[in-house]
Amino acid sequence: MHEHLESIYHDLKLKYPYQKEYLQSVLEFFESINNVLLEDPKIIESNVIRNIVEPDRIITFKVPWVDDKGKNRFNTGYRVQFNQALGPYKGGIRFTPNVNESVLKFLGFEQTFKNSLTGLPLGGGKGGSDFNPKNKSDAELLRFCQSFMIELHRHLGPTLDVPAGDIGVSQKAIGYMFGMYKRLTHAHHGSFTGKGTNYGGSLGRTEATGYGIIYMTLAALDKYFNTDLKNITIIISGSGNVALHTAYKAKQMGANVVAMSSIDGVIYHPQGIDVALLEHIKEHNQLIEVYLERYPNAVFSKDTKKIWEIPCEIALPCATENELELEDVKKLVKNGLKMLVEGANMPTTLDATHYLLEHNILFIPGKAANAGGVSVSGLEMQQNALHTSWTFETVDNKLKEIMTKLFNSIYETAKSYDKPFDLVSGANILSFKRIYQAMLDQGL
Ligand code: NDP
Repeated sequence: MHEHLESIYHDLKLKYPYQKEYLQSVLEFFESINNVLLEDPKIIESNVIRNIVEPDRIITFKVPWVDDKGKNRFNTGYRVQFNQALGPYKGGIRFTPNVNESVLKFLGFEQTFKNSLTGLPLGGGKGGSDFNPKNKSDAELLRFCQSFMIELHRHLGPTLDVPAGDIGVSQKAIGYMFGMYKRLTHAHHGSFTGKGTNYGGSLGRTEATGYGIIYMTLAALDKYFNTDLKNITIIISGSGNVALHTAYKAKQMGANVVAMSSIDGVIYHPQGIDVALLEHIKEHNQLIEVYLERYPNAVFSKDTKKIWEIPCEIALPCATENELELEDVKKLVKNGLKMLVEGANMPTTLDATHYLLEHNILFIPGKAANAGGVSVSGLEMQQNALHTSWTFETVDNKLKEIMTKLFNSIYETAKSYDKPFDLVSGANILSFKRIYQAMLDQGL
């Protein structure tokens, strides 16, 4: 790594010693941009990299709420407004008990670069709370979301900061937050994406991240292997929004999705996962094991790691960060893996990523592969600004176009640096150059 990057990383480690997710995402990024530093001395002179790795601001606040038993409860809320060089801050809100500053800084950092890859005028941000929405009543969720917005609303707006959903934040929660935002600001405008389609949401937003992952997978299969998804064996971790819509689209394209998972275990069904049944199970908050009642020949394991032992040609981790470790990818490679596409944000640890690249496994990083969600969020903002709504087909065609163009642009960038198989470098270099130039043009 270039000494300039070494020195910045060293200082970040001293300043934020406990922020391991954030440090990991910065390190992965630094590993890719050496050559760019060598070709443009202004990058070091302007000290832009020290600027780019720090968020513009972090808003932290207390969220008091009352549970159904009348007990007072408290969580911590955050919004990390990371970078506004290309447009308003844009990125989801996550509600899980493990949300903290490090997780949201890593997500905001990734989001900044991801958003630049879409070609849309969007900056990067991320927010959330350590609130656990599981096993909460509707009334509890409503009270929590309203309290969360009482503080956050003043930092949002259609040209300032536009959140969406993420893990643990469903369309229902978006509705509750948007409803409170309206009451506090007296404005009904596109200050959230992922809204219900009857009050300003875009058709196709729910499906967008999953469909986008498959559009990008198809573009890559075509470019590198001159093939498509027909009869390809796939595994997909998770069974939430991203995983389910990835699975639907993969099946529609002729792939055989043989395994999916959730926090409570893995279902292996060699004849092909019944995605609609899995969605029904999750909608009813049941354990994934219930799948066996309809398909007794499917195999269930409580150990979520078992999914990586299942032979497949393509693996699509779509659950959470660092779910795929070195030992897991060794098993995948041994069992014939050809390609890994990150559906989740940073699901692969750094040493696992290195192993895949060293073993010539085609690897598409999340900041490119899962950009479909934010792309359609960008299209939702456009529709809101125009006071119009487009058909599902129009949105889906635009999504396909954005994902295919995005793939081609990171491929061309990787190729221009003599690394045609290194799409991690392709994505990091291209997104860095876009943001760096915009920052320089605006006086940093
Ligand atoms: P959801 O909350 O809808 O789903 C997450 C899924 O992952 C759930 O099925 C959950 O299980 C499962 N899960 C969590 N941890 C594990 C684990 N250790 N092993 C197995 N399964 C696990 O979230 P999303 O689908 O929205 O998000 C998934 C990922 O995609 C995240 O990294 C998110 O940041 C990223 N992403 C999401 C976008 C979006 O549009 N929603 C856009 C871009 C990225 P259970 O059902 O038991 O809770």
